[in-house]
Amino acid sequence: MSATVTSITLNGRTYRWPQAPVVVVCVDGCEPDYVTRAAAAGAAPWLAGVVATQTSRLADAVVPTFTNPNNLSIVTGVPPAVHGICGNYFWDRDADAEVMMNDPKYLRCGTLLAAFAQAGASVAVVTAKDKLRRLLGHDMQGICFSSEKADQTTKAEHGIDDALGFVGLPLPDVYSAALSEFVFAAGVKLMESMRPDVMYLSTTDYVQHKHAPGTPEANAFYRMMDGYLARLDALGAIVALTADHGMNAKTDGAGAPRIVYLQDHLDTWLGPATARVILPITDPYVVHHGALGSFATVYLPAGAEAGVAKRLADLAGIELVLERAEACRRFELPPDRMGDLVVVSERHTVVGTAAARHDLSGLDAPLRSHGGLSEQQVPLLLNRRTRLSADARLRNFDAFDVALNRVSG
Ligand SMILES: [Zn+2]
Repeated sequence: MSATVTSITLNGRTYRWPQAPVVVVCVDGCEPDYVTRAAAAGAAPWLAGVVATQTSRLADAVVPTFTNPNNLSIVTGVPPAVHGICGNYFWDRDADAEVMMNDPKYLRCGTLLAAFAQAGASVAVVTAKDKLRRLLGHDMQGICFSSEKADQTTKAEHGIDDALGFVGLPLPDVYSAALSEFVFAAGVKLMESMRPDVMYLSTTDYVQHKHAPGTPEANAFYRMMDGYLARLDALGAIVALTADHGMNAKTDGAGAPRIVYLQDHLDTWLGPATARVILPITDPYVVHHGALGSFATVYLPAGAEAGVAKRLADLAGIELVLERAEACRRFELPPDRMGDLVVVSERHTVVGTAAARHDLSGLDAPLRSHGGLSEQQVPLLLNRRTRLSADARLRNFDAFDVALNRVSG
């Protein structure tokens, strides 16, 4: 590290130079209850210790409570209104195309990871799915690879040759708990070998989409995670844990999914294909949730907003309908990338487009998903004591600030 650098400033926030290796972990889909239940069951002794004796808070994620907007908020320290990534998927009006929001060209500010690397820190990033890798690693000098494609890494592109051989585990299936375990195993290997100043680890919510807090499968996942976090701690790292969003059952009492098909309603009210429903949860890996979440944005003909908003708000299962300006103010979203209305469904309900456009055949467990206000609360844990006022609202994207600036000795 450079001897003269004592802090960096990015996106209006200042961060102290790490005094020890700092590891921020984003546990995808980590509803707070997963940690509580695993700790209570004795499955996560390290996490239980942090909760009991160090820093354990709840923080608010970014709405829409989806993976890309929140991961990018955590690594930039700012909401989507600033960084621009407001979904996994959106309608690019300029290109008139519905596209994945995985391309760094959509990113409107720099990341802490790139800024620390540029200032001379060694930085490493490991993410479960490759879809996030290019966004997280944008403009960053250092190591950045995914579990999913660990067999394809090169020094030139990922900062490391043969990450698969380096980690020493088999290449995991993209739909597996092992995809996340690989992230943690890689993090420990990296800490043992290169000891990066700053590390960011981001998992996948495969387990959380299938298994509720406290179930044997969920506790087994947190037991696995706990062991790796304990090793990072033992290696001297300051470890912050947060999540991109929570997770809830989206089913009725009989276990059937509760779905409001927005496009079908709008086609009936306005005529076929007059409105355009965008589901920002959409990504190439939809098997475990069928592209069904609790947040949608809707494009409408001019002048239709207020009337349609009222009709949508009257539908069973809909929690909130806001016009664009109000939604972007409240949720800190970029107005040019959102539709005319934002629709949020209730805790146990999801929104879809048209019934015919969702393939639910891959759902082999009752639907669990996220996207709405009901998945906004996530844990923010740190294996150090901190100076944080008890009543301050924390965001998940305060994780680096807490780990770097708030440790109390
Ligand atoms: Zn996620």
